[in-house]
Amino acid sequence: MKLSFLGGAGEVTGSCTLVETGDARFLVDCGMFQGGHEAWEKNQRALDFDLRHLDFVLLTHAHIDHSGLLPRLSALGYKGPIHVTATTAELLEVMLLDSAHLQEKEAEWRSRHRDARRRHTVDPLYNVNQARACLEQLRTVAYETEFSPHPGFSCVFHDAGHILGSAIVDVRLRTAAGMRRLVFSGDLGQAANGLLPAPRRIDSADVLLVESTYGNRLHKTSENTRAELIAAISGTLANGNVIIPAFAVGRTQSVLYALADLARSGTLPPLRIFIDSPMAEKATLITRRHLELLAPDVRDLDRWMRSNPAELQLRYTHEVEESMALNQIRAGAIIISASGMCDAGRIKHHLRWNLPRSACAVLITGFQAEGTLGRRLVDGARNVRIFNDDIPVRAQLHTIGGLSAHADRDGLLDWLRGFARAPGHTFVVHGEHDTAVDFAEDVKRKLGWTRVEAPERGDARTVA
Ligand SMILES: [Zn+2]
Repeated sequence: MKLSFLGGAGEVTGSCTLVETGDARFLVDCGMFQGGHEAWEKNQRALDFDLRHLDFVLLTHAHIDHSGLLPRLSALGYKGPIHVTATTAELLEVMLLDSAHLQEKEAEWRSRHRDARRRHTVDPLYNVNQARACLEQLRTVAYETEFSPHPGFSCVFHDAGHILGSAIVDVRLRTAAGMRRLVFSGDLGQAANGLLPAPRRIDSADVLLVESTYGNRLHKTSENTRAELIAAISGTLANGNVIIPAFAVGRTQSVLYALADLARSGTLPPLRIFIDSPMAEKATLITRRHLELLAPDVRDLDRWMRSNPAELQLRYTHEVEESMALNQIRAGAIIISASGMCDAGRIKHHLRWNLPRSACAVLITGFQAEGTLGRRLVDGARNVRIFNDDIPVRAQLHTIGGLSAHADRDGLLDWLRGFARAPGHTFVVHGEHDTAVDFAEDVKRKLGWTRVEAPERGDARTVA
């Protein structure tokens, strides 16, 4: 059996693994590369392999860095099934259509800004119609329900606790050497994150792919996170705004419930929260329709929010005009907006208006990839460029690690301790190069596992 690491190896975006056995070829995830100037080129070349004999696709979760090239896969000729959990399918409908819009806009922009002598236009990675066609290929399966995507294969999705619908993909298949079990962790949630249940533990695998986004870091404890949120927010709202860049799906909801918790306990005064991202609004509504998938505390919190609208005023801004009107607010607003890494979307406007003001605060709540505006802010830039303007950074910058939807190093190691014995092969993926390598070393040292490595994009391995 051969595994090809097509993306999300030695990096955190573009997750895609091709598995070829004697009987079938399948993909786990088909993610988009994000951040930096090379992302466009990498996405263009990403699916440059023979798609004709691809039998099925398994998806861990709806985040674009895991799902964003599915419409392109479909547009390039793959017409087979894409297996997902039911909530992932709901989220994909929102996310892939939004992504297609962005692709169309980016292609249009690139066509306009091309050298005028080269008149040909730039095609989008995929368009809205192609995204719609791809959605038709989704096949939904409930957690803990065995299904067979191909003769001789049996799969189960386990709750990964990362975002709504996220799954650990567990594949059993027959090879010439006997039955084999492949486990793909996907992105793993942190047990104490609060929003979702802890990732399901797995006890065995012949081949394991484990993520390592925060493989060399520890998150702050939830008490620390609370204290930081209180410090960042309570001192700011009297004279300034609090701007929170957040992924529309997952992080926005964790932030919302963390704030609601502080408002409910009376630790923070009544809050005025704007969710300024159409996709975040849709994702929040989907989340609130699926309270049964959330941690029990969060269900109570949601009930409290519904019955105490004065304690937590929540507004969704749909139209561009409403979003722009937020720029007139000088103080007292908490604005949660996308993109989470600050390099696209409405958040750029809010940063442009609020970064130069020392009375305001920016709360970074998620991972910031190299090459993104968010990363420059975290790295302490005193000036940043937004929409071709130099913007001085005078706002207070807070990094709140504890809200991450990813397990930290100890969380990952703890999940790995659920294995009764070391998997035959462990591949550490979905981490920047140094992080993945460090984490692979940690796994060897702390768990005594020997066959552990951190492959790079483009690597392939044959395993028995
Ligand atoms: Zn994710």
